[in-house]
Amino acid sequence: MKRIAIIGGGIAGLSAVYELALQQHAGAPIEFVLFDAASRLGGIVETVRRDGFVIECGPDSWVTEKPWARDLALELGLESELVPSRDDRRKTYLVQGRALTAMPDGMRMMVPAQWAGVLNSPLFSWQAKLAYLREPKLAEQLKTSAIDAAGSSRDESVRDFVFRHFGAEVADTIAAPLLAGVFGGDIAMLSARAVLPAFVALERDYGSLVLGLQQRRQAGDEPAAIFTTLRHGLAGLVEGMESHIPASSIQRGIVVASIDRTGEGWVVHRASVPGVSHPASQTFDAVLVATPAKTTAQLFGAIDERIEELLPQQSSSAIVVALAFSADRASAMRIPRGFGFLVPQIAAQHGPSRPISNDDVEAIAQSALLACTFVDQKFPQRAPKDAVLLRAFFGGPAVAPLLEVSDATLLRLAQTTLGRIVGKLPEPSIALVRRWPDSLPLYSVGHLDRMAELDARISRLPHMRLIGNAYRGVGLPDLIHTGRTAARELTANLTGA
Ligand SMILES: Cc1cc2nc3c(=O)[nH]c(=O)nc-3n(C[C@H](O)[C@H](O)[C@H](O)COP(=O)(O)OP(=O)(O)OC[C@H]3O[C@@H](n4cnc5c(N)ncnc54)[C@H](O)[C@@H]3O)c2cc1C
Repeated sequence: MKRIAIIGGGIAGLSAVYELALQQHAGAPIEFVLFDAASRLGGIVETVRRDGFVIECGPDSWVTEKPWARDLALELGLESELVPSRDDRRKTYLVQGRALTAMPDGMRMMVPAQWAGVLNSPLFSWQAKLAYLREPKLAEQLKTSAIDAAGSSRDESVRDFVFRHFGAEVADTIAAPLLAGVFGGDIAMLSARAVLPAFVALERDYGSLVLGLQQRRQAGDEPAAIFTTLRHGLAGLVEGMESHIPASSIQRGIVVASIDRTGEGWVVHRASVPGVSHPASQTFDAVLVATPAKTTAQLFGAIDERIEELLPQQSSSAIVVALAFSADRASAMRIPRGFGFLVPQIAAQHGPSRPISNDDVEAIAQSALLACTFVDQKFPQRAPKDAVLLRAFFGGPAVAPLLEVSDATLLRLAQTTLGRIVGKLPEPSIALVRRWPDSLPLYSVGHLDRMAELDARISRLPHMRLIGNAYRGVGLPDLIHTGRTAARELTANLTGA
C-alpha cells in the first residue's frame, strides 16, 4: 500500500484528494492523508448561506470557457446547481472621480469585439479611440513580432503588451483596473505570457486582438455566458468533493511545519499544538504540496533553496466585505443596473509604515478599494426578491494596513467608501468581512520560464508534486484540473498502474 500526503486543502489540494479517493475506490493500492491548517476545507473558497442570501467570501464564479470546474460539478451531481452569469445585464462601470461611467458594450477585457460601444464611449479620449481603430491595421506587424517571439522565451509585462496594441491610456485606465481585480498586482510587473495566454495566442494567430476577437465571434466560437457559478454557492464543490473522501483521511487544524526526505520517501512534521492527538511526524511515499506560495517556500527552504527562489516572490492580499440589505432596507437604494464597478488605481500606493490613525485608515480604504460587485444582479438567486447584496473588494499595494484593523472598522470603511460612489447606504441586515492575506501570487515577467525550471527541479525529487495558485493559473478551473491531473499521475507512478 502506497501512502500519499497532501498538504493544504484549498480547491487545488482538495481536487487532488478527491481524485485519489476515486482511484482508491477503483482499487488503486493507495492510502492518503490530507493535512489542513484550518478547521474548514476549501481555503479561499467559502460560501455563507444566511436568510436567503448566498454570500461568497472568496471566488464567486469561474470562467465558463474553461471546462474543468463544470465537469467536476456534473460529476458531483450538481447539474441543477449550475447557473450562468446574467449577461443581459453585463455592464461594468469604471469610477471616474465619484461618478460611474459604463464600460462600452462588447468588450472582452480591454479589447472591443464590436466598434459602436467604444467609439461612442465617454471613457476614452479621441487619441485612445484612434489607437483602437489603428490596431487592426498593424495586424501583420504584430503577428510577425509575435511569431518571432513564440519560439523564444521572450516575455513582457502586461502593460507593455497592451501598450503595443492600444497605447498608454487603454493600458492604464482599462487593463490595469480589470486585472488588478483578478491578480491584485501592478500590470507593469505582471507577465503577459502567464496572465494573458489567450490574448498572447490571439496575437500569434491574428496579429490584431480586435480582428481575432471579431473572427472568433463570427465563427460562433464564444461561450454563452462569461461566468458560471453554483446556485447555492461555490462551497458546493468543496462539500461535494469532501463527501467522497473518508473522514479518517482528513486531518484538520494541522499546520505542517516541515518536510524531510528519507531515501525514496518523505516525512511530514506537524507544528506542535496542545491537545492534538495525531502523531507529530508521519512517513509517506509521496507528497502533494498545495499550500500558498509563501508556505511552500518555507517548506522547501531546507530541501532545495533554488525552489524557494523560483516560487513567486510577491503576493498580494485581499479583503472582501459583503453587505446584504433585506428588501425593506434596500427600497431606498439606487444601485445602477450592472455587474458592478472597478476603481482605476492611479499609481502604486503603499500604506504608511507608522501606526495608522483614523484619518489614515479612511484614505487607505479609498485607495485600496479595487472593485464592487452588485451580486444580486450578476447572478440569479443570490438574494431574496428586491434585496440587494454588494461585495466590496479591497486589495493592491495599499491594502496591507487594513488587514490589521477590526471587522467593525472595515465594515464602516466599506459603507462610507461605497456610499460615496453609489449613494449613502442604509445599515446592512448582514455584514461579513474576510481577510485573505498573501492570497494572490504575483506572476511577474519571466514567470513561465521560472516554472519550467521549477518543474525540472521538482521532477528530480522522488514522488513530489506542487499544485495551487502559485504556478500556472489562479482560477478555479485550472486549479481543479492541475490538482486532479497531478494526483492521477502520482498514483500511476507509484503503483505502476
Ligand atoms: C478575494 C478573491 C476572489 C477571487 N475570485 C475568484 C473568482 O471569482 N474566480 C476564480 O476562478 N478565482 C478567484 N480567485 C482565485 C482563487 O480563489 C484562488 O486562486 C484559489 O481559491 C486558490 O486555491 P489554492 O488551493 O491554490 O489555495 P488556498 O485556497 O489558499 O488553499 C491553501 C490551503 O492550504 C492550507 N495551509 C496553508 N498553510 C498550511 C500548512 N502549513 N499546513 C497545512 N495546511 C496549510 C490553508 O489552510 C488552505 O486551506 C479569487 C481569489 C481571491 C483572494
